[in-house]
Amino acid sequence: MAGPSAVEAASPRELAWRLGCSRRDFLRSAAGMALGSALMSASPFVRGETAVRKRKVIVITFGGGARDQETFAPEGQENIPHLLHELIPQSSFFTQVVNEGILGHYVATASLATGVYETINNFSSLPPQHPTVFEYYRKDLNRRASDAWVVAPSNGFNRIGGSENRSYGPDLGARVVLPKHLLAAAMSGATTDYGHLLHDNYESPLFAPQLGGGEFELQQLEMILKLSVDDFKAHARTLSSPDELSMYIAQQLLQKESPGLLWITMHDIDIAHSGAYSLYIDGIRRTDRLCAELWKAVQSLPEYAGNTTMFILPDFGRDADQDAGGNGFQHHRTGDAASRTTWMMALGAGIREGVVYDRRIQSTDLVPTLGAMLGFSPSLSQGKPIQELL
Ligand SMILES: [Zn+2]
Repeated sequence: MAGPSAVEAASPRELAWRLGCSRRDFLRSAAGMALGSALMSASPFVRGETAVRKRKVIVITFGGGARDQETFAPEGQENIPHLLHELIPQSSFFTQVVNEGILGHYVATASLATGVYETINNFSSLPPQHPTVFEYYRKDLNRRASDAWVVAPSNGFNRIGGSENRSYGPDLGARVVLPKHLLAAAMSGATTDYGHLLHDNYESPLFAPQLGGGEFELQQLEMILKLSVDDFKAHARTLSSPDELSMYIAQQLLQKESPGLLWITMHDIDIAHSGAYSLYIDGIRRTDRLCAELWKAVQSLPEYAGNTTMFILPDFGRDADQDAGGNGFQHHRTGDAASRTTWMMALGAGIREGVVYDRRIQSTDLVPTLGAMLGFSPSLSQGKPIQELL
């Protein structure tokens, strides 16, 4: 039966589908995107040994989840000018990426990185259970340790670089850099001026970060990033948030290490948990700007320009206003369609520009897609390669 009762009775799957359709319509009107299908002509990328060997991939998780009314919907578009007018027109955009896993930031990011919905405790320092994209990449393609890096927002992400799987593991994983640890190490404890950059997470005060002035962090800073403690401290003074600090470190990595696979997890938007709507909006605007700045920096680096594919996707969404079990934008605890239905854009080498795809895909499809793109076999991942990107 049609009518209001039918709307109320819609299944999560149907609600997710409607969210995807809205995004498509918003993008077609705001960014002039064409509607794509899996049957479109083959990828414009020239394939071949050399091309695949040189290809580099950057993945950005669009920190902590933002809802359509603050982003893609007409009333939210002013918060994402860079995505909308610079990046999306160059992208293949997927309007319906569903996360069927646990909606905690560490476990969801680990799931994105393994292609399996991980079930580890979100608030513990544990490695992912299944091999990560970094391990597949390095083992199958025989890549050096310095070829895969993760820049992560908080203490809880320090084990994300390598899984507990015995055939793989941290020795084959990514190097993880925690910019806040670098800063804490550089300050050797005197962190009062930098409190706004060191806030560790916005959800669990019980999960206290242990920020120390470790020798390891100082070595990363000086040996790998080639930054003196004084230069780093001086630059950090000019930054306004943890994500700005992460992006600064990520750009240093691109310049100094030229990794083939770089994963950056953003987190400022999650300040929404504090309940301050204006800070949540500031976080979205900053994330929008930082994504565009990174893409611009990529184009200026000879190692990356023209052969880099970048993916931007949230780990998950946030609760809808009308869900009685939640508190609107503040949290992501209801597991409703809004909190599970996200999006993904891919742009750069090998990617069709200005196309929007409605088809429902899963968060776990990212890793198999990277495998098909770069030539490694993510044999334990559960997702499927996204044919529209290959
Ligand atoms: Zn959160």
